[in-house]
Amino acid sequence: MNIKLAELEHRKGEPLPFQVTLDADELKKRHHEIRGITPVTASGEAVQLGNLYYVKGSMKADVNFVCARCLNPFVDQATVDFSETFALSDDPILQDDEDSDILPLEGDEIELDSLLQEDFLLAMPTFPLCEEDCKGLCPTCGVNRNEVACSCKNERVDPRLAGLADFFKDSK
Ligand SMILES: [Zn+2]
Ligand SMILES: [Zn+2]
Repeated sequence: MNIKLAELEHRKGEPLPFQVTLDADELKKRHHEIRGITPVTASGEAVQLGNLYYVKGSMKADVNFVCARCLNPFVDQATVDFSETFALSDDPILQDDEDSDILPLEGDEIELDSLLQEDFLLAMPTFPLCEEDCKGLCPTCGVNRNEVACSCKNERVDPRLAGLADFFKDSK
């Protein structure tokens, strides 16, 4: 879905509400941690104020991940807020402030789908965890340490210090 700038101008500062459903298959293809995903529903509004155009709202989807630590599949009920500001690409405001978050607009429409897809993908984790403090798998016996407490001694030795540990062991 695209929003025509002429329509925003016509509304004279009155926000234009919108609802979009993003293509789940394409999102899944573009992020290798996403194992499955329901259609992403986005709702928000667009408005023109002066020379600037604003798009904001939020998106929701259930996303299937595999925990990077314990390898258990889990579902994240993801909510991703978005808020973007645009100016016409020839607007001097874009040259004046190179560090600004204002995005240039080419043409006479805002392409919502590609904009929201980028925002959604950026919010997805590259290292998904089932729980913030997931204990992961035991590196010695392989049990899921969230479910079973094994008695392996897994001393965390920094590989760069391993030589030093050996040195102290020998000197005892
Ligand atoms: Zn986990
Ligand atoms: Zn173990």
